[in-house]
This record gives sequence, C-alpha cells and structure tokens, in this order.
Amino acid sequence: MRIIVQKFGGTSVANPESREKAVAKIIKAKNEGFSVVVVVSAMGRNGDPYATDTLINLAKSIGAPLDFRDLDLLLSCGEIIAAVVMAQALEKAGYPAIALSGGQAGIVTDQNFGEAKIIGINPENVLKRLGEGKIVVVAGFQGVTAGGEITTLGRGGSDTTATALGSALKAELVEIYTDVEGVMAVDPRIIPEAKILRELTYQEICEMANHGAKVVHPRAVAIARDQKVPLKVRSTFTEDIGTLIGDGKPTRVITGIAHQVKIGRVLVKAKNGQLTPEDSVKIFKVLAEAGISVDMNSISPGQVGFVVKQEVLDKVGELLASDDFLVELLPGCAKISLIGIGMQDVLGVMARVVETLHQHDIKLLHTVDSEITISCLVLEEQMEKAIKVLYNEFGL
Ligand code: ASP
Ligand code: MG
Repeated sequence: MRIIVQKFGGTSVANPESREKAVAKIIKAKNEGFSVVVVVSAMGRNGDPYATDTLINLAKSIGAPLDFRDLDLLLSCGEIIAAVVMAQALEKAGYPAIALSGGQAGIVTDQNFGEAKIIGINPENVLKRLGEGKIVVVAGFQGVTAGGEITTLGRGGSDTTATALGSALKAELVEIYTDVEGVMAVDPRIIPEAKILRELTYQEICEMANHGAKVVHPRAVAIARDQKVPLKVRSTFTEDIGTLIGDGKPTRVITGIAHQVKIGRVLVKAKNGQLTPEDSVKIFKVLAEAGISVDMNSISPGQVGFVVKQEVLDKVGELLASDDFLVELLPGCAKISLIGIGMQDVLGVMARVVETLHQHDIKLLHTVDSEITISCLVLEEQMEKAIKVLYNEFGL
C-alpha cells in the first residue's frame, strides 16, 4: 500500500469553497494510486463557530476556573467536526470516506492535558479502513490517554498529528497544506519579494521552526527529522509545487532568516564585581524552579546574560532581586536568526553579520550561535531594518 498523509489547516477547511480545493487535492492523490489519510485542523479562525480560539473563549466566558481536562474535551470537538465535514465533502464528490477522532486513529498520548505528547500510535484501525478503499479523515491535534481520556497536543498540534501518523503508517509522503505556497526564506510581511525555498533540509526547517518561522510546528518537523518522513509544505489554493523537506545537501551559506519578537533581555552582575560560579548556578536554578525558560544564555566571569519572553521579565526581576546582584532588564527586544547548513564550512559569516549590522547603525545587544544558526538580539524597532540589510547582504 502506498500511503500519503495530507494535512489541511484551518483556512483550508473553513468554508465550502476552500473545502472544494482541499477535496481536489485529495482526489488527485487518490487517483494517482495513493491510499490517502487526511488530517484536519478545526475550521476557520477566531470568531468562526468551531475554531479553537472560539471554543477557548466559550469556555472562558463561563467564568469558572478552567479545568484542562474538560477544556481538552471541548477543544477536541473542533477537529472532530472538521473531520466529519471533510469526510462528508469527499462522499459528496463520490469518494468513500470515514472520519476518525485522534483516539480512534490509534493516537495515544501522555496525560499532560493541553500540551500532551504522543507516546505511541496503533495504526491498525487506519490501515483496516484504508484496506477497505476508504479515504480516512483524522481529527488533528488530539489523542487519548491509556486511561481513555481525550487530550490535545498544544496549539498548532495538527501538524504533529500528520507527521506522527506519517511515520507510524510508513507513508511515502506527508503534505502540509496551508494558505501560503511554501516555506519562505524570510517573512514576506517584511520582505514582500521573499522567495519560496524549494528544498530544505530537516535540520534547517527544525531550526527555522524553533526560531520563530510559523509555517510548520516545531514538534512536527522534529518527528519528521527523527523518523525521516519526507515532508512537503504547499498551498491548498494554487498548483505551486511548494517546499520539499528531506536530507538535502547545502547549496547556500544562509537559507533563511527567522525572527521572534516580544523578548526581554536580562543582565546580571554582582554588586561587588565578583559574580561567582555559585551565583550563576543560583540564578539559573531560581528561574528553572519558577518554570521560566531562558534562551541565548551566556556566562562570563563578570556577568550572566540571557533572554526570556517579555511577559515574564518583571517576574525575573523580582526573583533575582537580592542585595548581591545588579539586575538589568531590557524589554522590547527581537531575536533574528540566520539559518543555513552551508555556513558550517564557511569562514567569515559572523564577520559579515556584525559588519552589516554595524554599517547600518543597528545595535547588536547579544549573539549566540550553533553550527547552523547565528542569532542576533536587537531592539524591536530596529528588527525590520536588520532583516532587510541581512537579506540583501546574503542575497536571499
Ligand atoms: N486547531 C488547533 C489550533 O488552532 C490545532 C491546529 O490548528 O493545528 O491550535
Ligand atoms: Mg498551523
């Protein structure tokens, strides 16, 4: 059996016109001889009756404390409704289809309601229905615990359903259908002429997703990378071939630029000038115990620097307030990350980044790098300019 998994996001299943486009993609794959598994997100966006945000607001409007277990039960309905509607649309087009909830599709998760992790998939039911010649439409974003409780996988989790199912079913291809034509080298809202990347490596897409590129969920691409699931990102609404993700070779130094906003920078020094290793341990322990995640960490003899989400910046200030420390808090920062597996073998990339930003009077607040990523922290008001000049410098 040649299996393909096709995932359609909220805008692709929102209304009869968009569903018609999605149905055409599904039928095309079916007619090419694939056994097709469709994964759907909830229909539409905030304000649409069955969209995830609408359901969250409904639960909130009651005014009682939100119980995550009950909330998951409610949110799972959004995708279940979308699955049944898509199965009906396929039936209407003359193609036998069946809708399954995540649990019915064999997706088992841990009990972390609201952010559950898939711990196993039993593909038996899906394979049986495919064997009967049906198109199987699975509700994304959800699973079931070993004890039978319904869970959701965290916002954007339908992508994860798709790559996890693709892996469990040994699919030939997983296609993520969305409202853009592929993964862009840079956010087109900043660079309108940004190009679609035709080929990307797993490593690059993982870095891009982790550093703020929004097209595919980080967890979904991590599964694709670890299980070597061939992945495509493409549009429901055009014939464009989209972006293919696999084990490619580097063809350029920098592949793309991702960015994240609403970041706060923290610098900690000792009042007596002597920040000890014990102090560093204490700083990071206090934050970990408070459940605050830190990024861009750097420890040097005189100081500790890192960034956090801006919304927790004041809390960090309170937690670290002591007679021994000088704590500097800077809100309004943005992190720009240049990503490319090609940079591993090239000297002077950092020099070009620093020189380009300096030439354009962009203040570099902090940098960190890994083998395929250089991240720069700048002020939010300088972010767009920084992205533009780096985009030009590296000829993206
Ligand atoms: N409907 C869920 C959300 O809005 C899951 C998804 O769309 O992937 O987060
Ligand atoms: Mg999404």
